[in-house]
Amino acid sequence: MDDLKTILGRIRKPLDFASKDNFAHLHSLAALEPFMRPQIEELKRVLKERREVSEIESLFIGFDELLPEIKKERIINACAVIDSLEFDRKAPASKSYSPSPKPVASATMVEPSSPLRLDTPIQYCKGIGPKRAEMLRKLGMSTVEDALAYLPWRYEDRSNLKKIGRLSYGSYETVSGEVVSAEVVSTKRQKLKIFELLITDGSGMLVGSWFKQPFMQKMFKKGQRVMLSGVVKSNPYKGGIAQIDNPDYEIMDDEEADNLIHTGRMVPIYRTTAGLSVRYLRSMMKTVLDSCGGTMMEMLPQEIVSKYSLMPVPDAYYEVHFPTLEKNISMLNRGMSAAHRRLSFEELFVLELGLALRKQDVIREKKGISFKPLDRLEAELRKKLPFTLTGAQERVIAEIKRDMTAERPMNRLVQGDVGSGKTVVAMIASLLAIENAYQTCIMAPTEILAEQHYKSITALAQPLGVTVRSLTGSLKKKEKETVLADIESGTAQIVIGTHALIEVQVQFKRLGLAIIDEQHRFGVMQRSTLASKGYKPDVLVMTATPIPRTLAITVYGDLDVSVIDELPAGRSPVITRLYFESRRSEAYTFLETELRKGRQAYVVYPLVEESEKIDLKAATEMAAHMQKDIFPHWKIGLLHGRMKGNEKESVMASFTAGTINILVSTTVIEVGVDVPNATVMVIEHPERFGLAQLHQLRGRVGRGAYQSYCILMGPRMFAVEARERLTVFSRTNDGFKIAEEDLRLRGPGEFFGTRQSGIPDLRAANLIRDADLLEKARTEAFNLLLHDSQLSQYPKLRELLKRKWHGKLGLINVG
Ligand code: ADP
Ligand code: MG
Repeated sequence: MDDLKTILGRIRKPLDFASKDNFAHLHSLAALEPFMRPQIEELKRVLKERREVSEIESLFIGFDELLPEIKKERIINACAVIDSLEFDRKAPASKSYSPSPKPVASATMVEPSSPLRLDTPIQYCKGIGPKRAEMLRKLGMSTVEDALAYLPWRYEDRSNLKKIGRLSYGSYETVSGEVVSAEVVSTKRQKLKIFELLITDGSGMLVGSWFKQPFMQKMFKKGQRVMLSGVVKSNPYKGGIAQIDNPDYEIMDDEEADNLIHTGRMVPIYRTTAGLSVRYLRSMMKTVLDSCGGTMMEMLPQEIVSKYSLMPVPDAYYEVHFPTLEKNISMLNRGMSAAHRRLSFEELFVLELGLALRKQDVIREKKGISFKPLDRLEAELRKKLPFTLTGAQERVIAEIKRDMTAERPMNRLVQGDVGSGKTVVAMIASLLAIENAYQTCIMAPTEILAEQHYKSITALAQPLGVTVRSLTGSLKKKEKETVLADIESGTAQIVIGTHALIEVQVQFKRLGLAIIDEQHRFGVMQRSTLASKGYKPDVLVMTATPIPRTLAITVYGDLDVSVIDELPAGRSPVITRLYFESRRSEAYTFLETELRKGRQAYVVYPLVEESEKIDLKAATEMAAHMQKDIFPHWKIGLLHGRMKGNEKESVMASFTAGTINILVSTTVIEVGVDVPNATVMVIEHPERFGLAQLHQLRGRVGRGAYQSYCILMGPRMFAVEARERLTVFSRTNDGFKIAEEDLRLRGPGEFFGTRQSGIPDLRAANLIRDADLLEKARTEAFNLLLHDSQLSQYPKLRELLKRKWHGKLGLINVG
């Protein structure tokens, strides 16, 4: 017999599936009710009479016929109940079960208590005890301020009251009426208790029906005014009278008529968890807003508030939770009402102000190296290059030179799609430093990449008489000592390595330029540790993750940004094809054709941390299988992250030399690997990769003169979301377009990952949607610092900045 956990897991699965990615899969959920029925029977067996069981049961009655919006809400509610059961299960064994919060009539909640401060812990608010505070914490609400910032994820327009006599069946409606009767009835067959509320508004009668919630009877009295919202149907057993199952309800006292929060207005819908109902959250928000409205202060400078006619803060908070001004539901749902935009602006302003401070600090405090504009080495390099630089490369080189010859330290990001030719740009910058008798170092995120850089840079540098050394973790002790000595004596003019470069024993004689490749893999800290190896060296960060410009200035807000937005001429775009498992042999036939032409191929397997062992096994077995059964006459190599540094190197070397024809690999080859003779990239399980990652992988081919191909080996079945992603991917080779799509599909939070960007959380603002606000906020933030670089006239703003950025402003002194 299954235990509770297993049963809940089974119930949960389709719900999680359906709700993923903002309910992208809701429509593919069929016949949920028949699926749930036996599960719920199981639940009953385990949990007996617990109220949650009937709650869940009632949520799935008639589910498959519901409108998508209602389905969503029911799923959210069901998840909340399941959460509460799971939550409960984890609680200590002293099983004195207390029911999860039951919606309390709002009248008891709105009584204002003593005013709250923004930093008051949430549990001191009226109606929130320690237990609920714990659940709220799970939603990220610890203080009153957190609660205010917990915005509805959508709204429902329940403001449009319909006469009961004119209701249309099947649509979502809100009605108001007087209670005629409130009775608990039993069904004939199963003897289930149903609470039925009969109301009238003079034009007709309507039944509100709650399955298995007889306790609700106590809450209603004859003659009371109530509002109900939900999908209207007609009850055939009662002469076709209008009925709403599980309506949202509100009991109206006279003085409360314009204080509705659950119906009769634009109603906020919150994401819930852990046994907190949407209804409860709504009531709680109301209490919080009512009791702390007066303590919300304007933090922004008055000039800015009036310049952009920003709504006063307390109003803005009230309006995002309980809209009265915005009548357009879609503006609310898109987070673009005036109130939303006011809150977004504030967040973006604080964000930009912090970035501006960070940048100002770099500019103000440090005097770096001003390199002399020497170009003998550069001219020599250019003579030897087999190609001419693209316009974009030339422009970026000019920008870098301008920075390097200036006194303030360079902090520049060079962004360029895979294959845009960043290496030669880095090389020219390095030569400028070297000709000025300084050293350069280049840090790469992986050994393979460091090795690649070492090879390509050495090829460019050697003819010029420039000495290059490589420093990675896998060097033998003796070798390492030699390299360290060369770095210290200044013999090593360019040092290429992994994070081994930032270890303490690495001492440069005269480091003038630090280049960091693929910086999205490093934290901000590493950047500054590397820079500290020299006396305020210039810093150049290179990334292949293309981001739309408005975002780049924010995510890398303290850096200046250069973009190489042009590929070298004559590259033919990689052709991408999607194959399915059933056509695998066709894919192999194609591969064979390319190999016969003398080309090479990659076969890449995803490596997901949770299933690392299995994935590794898949890659290993595949390599063996291909060698033995499919391509016995070609040499297959295997590369994965668990291999030792020198093993990896020797495999890579054989592949580069062409002795390995097919390289089966996990994603270790994702970035930077450069073998122009490889023309086919086969990606296994492409549905498990993100867009940006797929783009990086595809960038491994199409690096030479040959037409190249990317083959996606799809499984038999796709989730809709994966299909969308792969379609976008096969249609374009443009990294910027892909990045934009990626952002759109994943949302900025996941796209950047807070860890990587180090920027404060954005609750209201959305970097893409609010790009216009971002620009304004940026201009204002930089202007403000121009007039008052320490914000000494703006103590409140300084306090806000400190709070939002936590420690993330680093060494910068904010007050
Ligand atoms: P990435 O920006 O991905 O690091 P690389 O610097 O590795 O790109 O360059 C990719 C390939 O393009 C290399 O083989 C390089 O020699 C070549 N390349 C770079 N610039 C040009 C150019 N202007 N014209 C033609 N080929 C170029
Ligand atoms: Mg590169």
